[in-house]
Amino acid sequence: MKKGIFICHCGTNISERVNVERLKSILESDGYLVRDHLFLCSQDAKQLILNFQDEVDGFVIAACSPENHETYFSSFIRKPFVIVNLREQCSWPHRDGEHATKKARDLIRAGINKLSYIKKPKTVKTKMEESVAVIGGGIAGITASIELAKLGYRVHIIEKSPSIGGKLLKFDKIYPLNDCASCVISSLISEVSAAKNIQIHVYTEVEEVSGYPGNFRIRLRKKQTYVDWEKCTGCGKCIDACPDRAKVPSEFDDGLTFRKAMYIYSPFAYPKKAVHDPEACVNCGKKKIGTRRLLRSGKEYLTPCEKACPTGAIDRSKNWDPEGEVFEIRAGSILLAMGYEVMSKDSFPEFPSHLPNVVTGIQMERILSPTGPTGGELLVPETLRKPEAISFISCVGSRDERYHTYCSKVCCMYMLKQARLIKERNPEIDVFIHYIDIRAPGRDLEEYYTLARKLGIKILRGRVGNVEPLNNGKLRILGFDSDTGDPVEYTADMVVLATAVELRESERDVARKMRLDIDSSGFVKEKHPKLQTFETSIDGIYLAGCVQGPKDVTETVLQAKSAALSVSSFLGKGEREIDVETIIDAERCTGCGMCIISCPFKAITAENDIPEINPISCRNCGICYSVCPVKAVDMATHGKAIEKELEGLKA
Ligand SMILES: Cc1cc2nc3c(=O)[nH]c(=O)nc-3n(C[C@H](O)[C@H](O)[C@H](O)COP(=O)(O)OP(=O)(O)OC[C@H]3O[C@@H](n4cnc5c(N)ncnc54)[C@H](O)[C@@H]3O)c2cc1C
Ligand code: SF4
Repeated sequence: MKKGIFICHCGTNISERVNVERLKSILESDGYLVRDHLFLCSQDAKQLILNFQDEVDGFVIAACSPENHETYFSSFIRKPFVIVNLREQCSWPHRDGEHATKKARDLIRAGINKLSYIKKPKTVKTKMEESVAVIGGGIAGITASIELAKLGYRVHIIEKSPSIGGKLLKFDKIYPLNDCASCVISSLISEVSAAKNIQIHVYTEVEEVSGYPGNFRIRLRKKQTYVDWEKCTGCGKCIDACPDRAKVPSEFDDGLTFRKAMYIYSPFAYPKKAVHDPEACVNCGKKKIGTRRLLRSGKEYLTPCEKACPTGAIDRSKNWDPEGEVFEIRAGSILLAMGYEVMSKDSFPEFPSHLPNVVTGIQMERILSPTGPTGGELLVPETLRKPEAISFISCVGSRDERYHTYCSKVCCMYMLKQARLIKERNPEIDVFIHYIDIRAPGRDLEEYYTLARKLGIKILRGRVGNVEPLNNGKLRILGFDSDTGDPVEYTADMVVLATAVELRESERDVARKMRLDIDSSGFVKEKHPKLQTFETSIDGIYLAGCVQGPKDVTETVLQAKSAALSVSSFLGKGEREIDVETIIDAERCTGCGMCIISCPFKAITAENDIPEINPISCRNCGICYSVCPVKAVDMATHGKAIEKELEGLKA
């Protein structure tokens, strides 16, 4: 029987360089059945391929990258087939049509060579765990968890801070409606805490991820709180008793205030439980953790915090393990929702960031929030007086070759929000925004911007060259208005730096533990930037929210809900069929163990010295195929077939 070669024009993507007619006649004269189509991925072309299914013994699909459509073609082609990439590997990189056509011919001939060595892999079935691990308890993780719980899955939320809620807990209002951020996140927290099938693990981090899609094993570490949370009611009496001497910059107030060694993360923390920070503890009661002191009466001596706790949740004589508790959960799927951080203001030597009156966007959120250091009253941090003028500076660390070249996407809008909140509450304050260009795409956002201008906020295009501290505590702003061409100079009481949104190295490390890719901007990379924006390169692991790149709440919620549906369709079938691509020939194997030590996915184990590949953990990377000294590893569609493809190219 013949081989069938189907060539795609991809509209004009391929055919504007590759002469498809000439290619067809060359291949026909080689004796193959050749057809072409404007779009091979269309339904119409599917029928064309199906019509020849019984006439050929294999297909070469000469189209675009297999990454795009291999799954689609394998859903209906019953014969062996290979995809030859004429677009990314031929028509796009080459300008010269003659050369591109010759290369297309060579690539297709190499594909035909490969086709003869393709075998149909056997399949095995594996059962899926009906539970999901959601890493990160911000609005992305919480929204996805609620959806998954409604769909009937068991959900574990793993949150590294002592409370779920993420950034929204810190904000006053959220654009575009300027609705109350706490109300939005609090109602979701209530829902998630009431759901029977959602388990929340706060103050917990991921240590290791093993297993495979459908059956992941996640080793977690719950950090030590030195407070028995079963007994703690969150009354805060231990915090009242804890001395002020330990001045730790508050995580919740982003360093604008200090917290004590004993603290509750925020007034609206969930769960509302006390945490003891032993590094900051000044040991005021002179009783080290893990030691006992007896009074002359023979009774146990209690430190101020122990004494204050009405439920006996604090016991410094107990030998608490500083490493916390390590435990393992199983999950069929993992959803990463670890959010973002903003760059610290100290990263920018061009601004006097050491001054308390120079703050970041998140710090300004805390200043404006009723749960913030001044109860929502706008006061200059250093003097605690009402400001007369405030200056916002955009793109600090974003769209800048020295830091991040990407746009942080949310800063223009949150600067407008904060400026509007200030102006609406204090019309007498002068508010300036310095921008490169305002990015306000999306529903109601342009109108939001227009309203800010109408309120009298001075929105100036152009960079700020310098911010100089003055003797009277004020700041001189020296900039440029590129619309008028005039220099700008004024004094302000406060400067707000819209520092870049980024993913921290610690969160990239979590992604790396799952062997996920990191993109050029440092965020976790999705499988496809347009078609699979919440899937990752690993089946069963999904993304939601800012872990994948800067996003506002609307976009985050949309992605979280969509990711939850994808998780459900992945787990929904209960079991999964897996192709067994790579096998080891036990007769040939000498038991040297090279494959076991080389496998990056720990997919090979040996019993009685004969290695065996777990087809579910195996990612078919081909490393064992290339390291085996006696060629005992066989691959159904890679390995030998790729060697033959390369031989075909050399010929
Ligand atoms: C100053 C500022 C103002 C903004 N204002 C608005 C606004 O008004 N309107 C709007 O639409 N958008 C606004 N945004 C954007 C908004 O903050 C994001 O869209 C939203 O917070 C994204 O939610 P998230 O869940 O992805 O991330 P986050 O809110 O950051 O939540 C992530 C969660 O994951 C946890 N986490 C992180 N790493 C780990 C780990 N390794 N293990 C376990 N847990 C982890 C974090 O502790 C956190 O709880 C603003 C952004 C900024 C910087
Ligand atoms: S199969 Fe690939 S090459 Fe063909 S039309 Fe679709 S995208 Fe373009």
